Amino acid sequence: MIFANCSTLDSALLENIHTKAAKIILGCFRTTRNAPVLSDLNFIPLYNRRELHLLLFFYKIKTGLTSPVLHSFLPQTLGEISAYSFRHANNFQLPLSKRSPVHNSFFNKAPVPGNFLPQYIKLSSSFAAFKNRITLFYHGMNCNIWHLQGSNPSATSLRCVFRLGHSPLNINMKSFRQWSCGSTETLEHLLLQCNLTLHHRHLLLLTLKNTLLNEKIYNQPQYSIIRNKTLIHILLFGHPKLSFKPTVVIFSALSRFLKNSWRFKSLI
Ligand SMILES: [Zn+2]
Repeated sequence: MIFANCSTLDSALLENIHTKAAKIILGCFRTTRNAPVLSDLNFIPLYNRRELHLLLFFYKIKTGLTSPVLHSFLPQTLGEISAYSFRHANNFQLPLSKRSPVHNSFFNKAPVPGNFLPQYIKLSSSFAAFKNRITLFYHGMNCNIWHLQGSNPSATSLRCVFRLGHSPLNINMKSFRQWSCGSTETLEHLLLQCNLTLHHRHLLLLTLKNTLLNEKIYNQPQYSIIRNKTLIHILLFGHPKLSFKPTVVIFSALSRFLKNSWRFKSLI
């Protein structure tokens, strides 16, 4: 909240540090796009986080959870100003001023995103309910970050860069060098087709199949018709119906495959 009034330049500098830290955690490249990096860690951009804290504090003032002095500074709502029945009578009317001290003041800044919130958040009955709803609204669906589990940090990073779609594979690095087998090196080729990793792939897919069948995610006939893309997605992201332990089993099997395939021997 302290930095809510900082300039665009300062905000960009703060954001830079935030994304750099996220990239160090995931072990991905400096040039990987910021949005997938942040969403992979279930982080939100700092400007959104500041906005979230402004709204939480504003809700406390509005509902009288803070000093009554602060409550007296609240702008009027549309319903208080006019007798007409507006659809958004709870929205706050902002002062029509272009002066920066007014424009950047807390009571002018905090209601703006608040006015655009969905009704079910605005009409929350308690602070706890409001906080819960608005956090979910900003963070999107609650996603787990089990994919950071793994005994080998280098292999975990490698799984991360595959998931982010910016990996050291030749096709992602826009390199025209061919991998030893002579094929174009895509993720699908590496994980499911390459002849150089036949044995390790067999072990990987066996672990995957056993885990999915044991956990009753699929039965035998269903498993036999899973497409390659779905297989790769489960290997990288897990399955929404899988619990923590089987998910880690799959991720560990992929890490072992990546390590034993020797394709990334300089990285792992
Ligand atoms: Zn190959």
